[in-house]
Amino acid sequence: MARKWVYLFTEGNKDMRELLGGKGANLAEMTNLGLPVPQGFTITTEACTQYYEDGRQINDEIRGQIAEYIGKMEEITGKKFASKENPLLVSVRSGARASMPGMMDTILNLGLNEEVVETLAAKSNNPRWAWDCYRRFIQMFSDVVMEVSKSEFEKLIDAKKAEKGVQNDVDLDAEDLKDLANQFKAKYKDAIGKDFPDDPKVQLIEAVKAVFRSWDNPRANVYRRDNDIPYSWGTAVNVQMMAFGNMGPTSGSGVAFTRDPATGENKFYAEVLMNAQGEDVVSGVRTPMKIEEIKKTLPEIYDELIDIANKLEDHYRDMQDMEFTIEDGKLYMLQCRNGKRTAKAALKIAHDMVNEGMIDKKQAVLSVEPRNLDTLLHGSFSKDTVKKATQVGKGLPAAPGAACGKIVFTAEEAKKQAQNGEKVVLVRRETSPEDIEGMKAAQGILTARGGMTSHAAVVARGMGACCVAGCSDIVFAEDEKSFTLGGKTYKEGDVISFDGSTGNIYDGALPVQEGAVEDDDFAAIMEWADEIRTMQVRTNADTPTDAKKARELGAQGIGLCRTEHMFFSGNRIDAFREMIVSDTKEEREAALDKILPLQQGDFEQLFEAMEGDPVTIRFLDPPLHEFVPKDEEDIEKLAKAKGKTVEQVKGIIAGLKEANPMMGHRGCRLPITYPEIAVMQTKAVIRAALNVQKKHPDWTIVPELEVPLVGIDKEMAFVKNIIVETADAELKAAGSDMKYKVGTMIEIPRAAITADEIAKEAEFFCFGTNDLTQMTFGFSRDDAGKFLDAYYDKKILENDPFAKLDQDGVGKLMKLAVKLGHETRPDISIGICGEHGGDPSSVEFCNSIGLDYVSCSPYRVPIARLAAAQAAIKQSRK
Ligand code: PEP
Ligand code: MG
Repeated sequence: MARKWVYLFTEGNKDMRELLGGKGANLAEMTNLGLPVPQGFTITTEACTQYYEDGRQINDEIRGQIAEYIGKMEEITGKKFASKENPLLVSVRSGARASMPGMMDTILNLGLNEEVVETLAAKSNNPRWAWDCYRRFIQMFSDVVMEVSKSEFEKLIDAKKAEKGVQNDVDLDAEDLKDLANQFKAKYKDAIGKDFPDDPKVQLIEAVKAVFRSWDNPRANVYRRDNDIPYSWGTAVNVQMMAFGNMGPTSGSGVAFTRDPATGENKFYAEVLMNAQGEDVVSGVRTPMKIEEIKKTLPEIYDELIDIANKLEDHYRDMQDMEFTIEDGKLYMLQCRNGKRTAKAALKIAHDMVNEGMIDKKQAVLSVEPRNLDTLLHGSFSKDTVKKATQVGKGLPAAPGAACGKIVFTAEEAKKQAQNGEKVVLVRRETSPEDIEGMKAAQGILTARGGMTSHAAVVARGMGACCVAGCSDIVFAEDEKSFTLGGKTYKEGDVISFDGSTGNIYDGALPVQEGAVEDDDFAAIMEWADEIRTMQVRTNADTPTDAKKARELGAQGIGLCRTEHMFFSGNRIDAFREMIVSDTKEEREAALDKILPLQQGDFEQLFEAMEGDPVTIRFLDPPLHEFVPKDEEDIEKLAKAKGKTVEQVKGIIAGLKEANPMMGHRGCRLPITYPEIAVMQTKAVIRAALNVQKKHPDWTIVPELEVPLVGIDKEMAFVKNIIVETADAELKAAGSDMKYKVGTMIEIPRAAITADEIAKEAEFFCFGTNDLTQMTFGFSRDDAGKFLDAYYDKKILENDPFAKLDQDGVGKLMKLAVKLGHETRPDISIGICGEHGGDPSSVEFCNSIGLDYVSCSPYRVPIARLAAAQAAIKQSRK
């Protein structure tokens, strides 16, 4: 039997959104509820997928069913395509499973031709309206279906208005519009080389193809990537009888929300534009009026709309966003959906609805989009601001927030100007540890190079600073004192704005709205999320400040402390560099002696901040190229400190140069060559833990010492021995029986594959999915941005695997490691601390494979808490 590709609105329901798309499923549901919905049919999302499989063709079977359903629709509506008595006009609209507002195409008034226009004009006694519909249809069809630019038609309209000496479209009369329709058709023929199609069935098939095609347009592709919507879903197409909002003063088009989408307030909100079609409302050419204004002129419509809104919110148990049309005093519902809302509104609506007894806590937790919380935790640009802004480029959305300021090109300048009260943004080819203070001082960081796990991205995320990384369209001038982007040259002092949540870069100054989390609604939803989730949420915190912030945001421990990052501030880097460029054990030990108290002090504050909750301290893992001095001045300083000549130091630095530093002398390879490093770090951790334990006898501190970049069980055994020997000696000397754990990162594919062997030594695992992704794909985590766009274009990848976990590949290795680890050590604790630990879909995957915790940068802790709760709910329903 042939597959069913088309459904009448009477054949579907709200649970069929995968097949019918959100709009189709809800049109069917509203029909079932007996609401006034202009009838029609939905062509399924599967038909869209089939269209692509068939080489962008609608096959005969689907065409056949569309033709059959036009017949059914004609019967239901009593109207007929191209009829001289009662012609059928339809709208053709996209509708994917998840709503993608404005991303795909729509065609209104389809079914018109010259004869039909005359019929409509005569029957309605409203020739102006009939010709207005026709000229709109030609314009939309030409633009959307045949890609003849809209502006060509706008020019003709402007010329007509000038000829008639009028300002507005509404001042053109029937004759003018008829003339315009004819000019439009001539323009179409000119551009396409064929007459404008008169047969509604031909028009319809072309329009359906255009909607399918728009699934793959560039803006839809970007939107999907930003919103985690898979390409494979496809869009449905809804063919619906037209209801006309442009028939005169008792007609109009509008949108309504059952609650305020900006604040969440429980207050019906609707706007209507009289004598207009929906596109006029959306395009903003005329300003709509508040619905309350029609209370006097059309009171029954007002009451009916309120009634329907209440009914729909009760039915869906969520805030509804509705589109409606009033046709000559009769109300029609064209769409309803769970309304898009700000994070603040989402939290308030969820909280209120639980209090109102409409939903339970689980539904409340599910109704808030975790990523949306970013706007509460960081600054953001309002929708209106973005609409009016001029975008000049796009980079990777590396760390959320909104930044606006004067451009500076060096960290020193950023610091200097910020101290003078200037708002600056730091624009760099890439960042390095020397830039930290400038990064902190700046409103945001923009880099031309680097991926989602590059230095700038990781550090900015940790600090809660806004960062757009890897914008490869930025071309720096030779002297790095200016750059070009989007055809414009920017110099120091020029102002730009950028959005770290989307990666979009804008010309000039945009106002930033501040974020705020001190809110009862936020607290309530987070409390419920914490009750529901089973996975712990820890934080990646490298400094006491980060740790405190993370604790405030609900972290239940530290899952990763990158100890090398402790050397980013002030002149601490000096001691670290002295250690790196030592060429004897004695020299190294002298440098390590300087480092030990610094580390111990920081570790104490980390244990303090976590109040007895677990703290994992990872041993040094510096890819050396990130830390060696580059400036002449820094090299001289280092030489002086080491009692060496500049030439000697330069020689040592040259000797440290590696062809492939990410796979070089880092991680556990350092203590294997220089065991004294592990000895120093063990002492620092154990002494810090002992001190804090002594201060807080009611806490049970169990420090977790973690070895990075292990791939071979014997590497782990070697470093573990040093740790255990040192730790036990420290504990013995202190007369303490404090417990501690030694574990490893799983970030090399070999470690995942041999996790059973490694678990003999390691008491815990933590997936370092940044390196694991890098090494599984063989993509450099710093440079992948250069070619990933080509991968998206060619549909080889849909997402950046450094931001969203590759479940099929990297995830498979993780699953294997979890299984093997548990075989050897059933009670082994396993977490994740790569950047994926704060990405909602990756958190869901981690929950599904049974991880004990996710760990993420402080500002992503609330997102991970909510995502973990949603994952637990979804999993319990499977
Ligand atoms: C990782 O590799 O995922 C990780 C957390 O370590 P780093 O990013 O410091 O290499
Ligand atoms: Mg790593």
